Amino acid sequence: MQIYKVGGAVRDRLLGKPVTDIDWVVVGATAEEMLAKGFRPVGADFPVFLHPKSGEEYALARTERKSGRGYGGFTFHASPEVTLEEDLIRRDLTINAMAEDDQQNLTDPYHGQRDLEDRILRHVSPAFAEDPLRVLRVARFAARYAELGFKVAPETLELMRQLSESGELEALTAERSWKEISRALMESQPQVFIQVLRDCGALKVLMPEVDALFGVPQPEVHHPEIDSGIHTLSVLEQAALHKQPLTVRWACLLHDLGKGLTPEEEWPRHIAHEHKGLKLIKAVNERFKAPKDCQELALLVGQYHTHGHRALELKASTLLELLQSFDVYRRPQRFEEFIVACEMDARGRKGLEQRSYPQADYLRGAASAARGVAVQPLLEKGLKGPELGEALKRERLKALKAYKESASS
Ligand code: ATP
Ligand code: MG
Repeated sequence: MQIYKVGGAVRDRLLGKPVTDIDWVVVGATAEEMLAKGFRPVGADFPVFLHPKSGEEYALARTERKSGRGYGGFTFHASPEVTLEEDLIRRDLTINAMAEDDQQNLTDPYHGQRDLEDRILRHVSPAFAEDPLRVLRVARFAARYAELGFKVAPETLELMRQLSESGELEALTAERSWKEISRALMESQPQVFIQVLRDCGALKVLMPEVDALFGVPQPEVHHPEIDSGIHTLSVLEQAALHKQPLTVRWACLLHDLGKGLTPEEEWPRHIAHEHKGLKLIKAVNERFKAPKDCQELALLVGQYHTHGHRALELKASTLLELLQSFDVYRRPQRFEEFIVACEMDARGRKGLEQRSYPQADYLRGAASAARGVAVQPLLEKGLKGPELGEALKRERLKALKAYKESASS
């Protein structure tokens, strides 16, 4: 049997990037031989094994054929006769379809190295169209390597467009989609992921609520970029520049969905878009079964981001309501994520990227003022239940009033 390094490990070494996980392909072996060498099978009928020591993935060289809708609709053919070239041709991109032996001799039948040099994301063969997940993968790689100047090849974008129009994207499971979306959002230029999905018509299928923001104007005084879709991309870009976590990036992507619902007669104003957007945010959250912390933050940021911007003008009682809504006493981290999401929203505007955002520290101060109210003295007065809750609220309101005064003097 011959063993080759494949996929991302080869690509990233040639790019001079750190290689984290290594995938291997094994040519000329049977499953029985692998088991005899101590490899552990990954699934019952999937020709992939884990190395007994390193735990890395070793896949038998295989060919694939599409036999139905979705990812389940694949039949695999793995046998010792399958060649390395036959295995490589089923892969998504030419830059992912190179193999390397232990002497670092490159097998590159589909010219991945040339495309690496030319900074092109190009599909390997027409079989690309057999797995709709590849649309998301290509968009994700575009987001990751945008900083190196990579672009999607026009013919690949065209295939992605056909796939998007075919209805195949709808066959993707929430789990597979979310895995790609969440990884893409954590790349260095997540806005490129959304842009590429939009360019090939996939955004309209996957997240029509986000797609609908493009072409919707906002008031130029607050939004020099005018377009709500462009604004959303910029907010996401800021979130990545400021190394924000996934929860914040997800909330940034969805914070303005309500603007897509505004009747044209009302443009460029978007009255109550925060509230109107909630059902859309919920729908997107549920479509991809986003993790609970992502779902929650997206809804809270959607509902309260304007409060964030107006923080310095909010009455003490409104501040208190805001803090209560976030349960800031038990979930301080979530409120901090809200604050930075608001800041990204404020900076994700053309020419305003460097603006200061005093609201952030002001909100942090308000949170600590309210959290500073001690429960113990109230307990000692014998208060409990709803009475205790009311007294606590009164004390917190007092603390916030004092905070407001000290902040304005
Ligand atoms: P990463 O750095 O994100 O791990 P990777 O290229 O190693 O990138 P993996 O998901 O680990 O990506 O997959 C390893 C290889 O398997 C890819 O390089 C590609 O050749 C192939 N591959 C994975 N998923 C698909 C797919 N859905 N369609 C076609 N080829 C795929
Ligand atoms: Mg990999």
